[in-house]
Amino acid sequence: MFKRRKPAIQIKTPEQVELMRAAGLLVGRTLQLLREAVEPGISTLDLDRLAEQHIRDHGGVPSFLGYHGFTGTICASVNEEIVHGIPRPDKVLRDGDVISIDCGAIVDGWHGDSAITVPVGEITPELRKLLDVTEASMWHGLAAGVAGARLTDMSHAIETYVRSQGEYGIVEGYGGHGIGTEMHMDPLIPNHGAAGHGPVLEPGMCFAVEPMVNLGTKDTAELDDGWTVITTDGLASAHFEHTFAVTPEGPRVLTALDEGKEWFAKLGA
Ligand code: MG
Ligand code: MG
Repeated sequence: MFKRRKPAIQIKTPEQVELMRAAGLLVGRTLQLLREAVEPGISTLDLDRLAEQHIRDHGGVPSFLGYHGFTGTICASVNEEIVHGIPRPDKVLRDGDVISIDCGAIVDGWHGDSAITVPVGEITPELRKLLDVTEASMWHGLAAGVAGARLTDMSHAIETYVRSQGEYGIVEGYGGHGIGTEMHMDPLIPNHGAAGHGPVLEPGMCFAVEPMVNLGTKDTAELDDGWTVITTDGLASAHFEHTFAVTPEGPRVLTALDEGKEWFAKLGA
């Protein structure tokens, strides 16, 4: 007799969740540093160097560096680049750009993974709204990450919020994931779809939630560099990500400096 194989989701003890908080906090603080460093004229490699130095200075190891041959500590994806942009000295930020910065670090064997999209100088109201909608959709997804819920309740919460805000393209084929002793673990978390499917969430499970939302089409292509994912219509994309733990008290956002308190209060979660 066959049993259908369910994805094995790593369960952390409360002590292990504390270790993941240390990794998450380092990632959160690194992104805070980079947010403040973003300005017209800085290159994505400059940002990468800052990130690597900060992570190493605080007892961490950059998890992206060397991952399947990736050459950066961060993924730096500008404008129509959605994710996985490679830091480069000749990729210089200009006023009006938006840049997604994705960063991961390992502390004592545990991973944190988080991303922000940041305006460079003055951006258009249309881009400002894209960033706001994408970030808020992530928080709606995180708020659905409660014990007893099903995995795709998070997917559905993300999609429902984005659709309520206008005609945006929600990227498919990339999404959230389990995280713990490795960066990418089972299961995948789509950013769209019906609620009520997938594993039941239990305390000690940890996930990264990461919506990618486009101004135009949801369709993507990969550049010849083998990494950079772009929108096929050349319109801008935004990407936000946090790592969180399911706890008996609700989702604890390990890569947020305040563990999500401000946003959850705003959402009434
Ligand atoms: Mg990430
Ligand atoms: Mg991730």
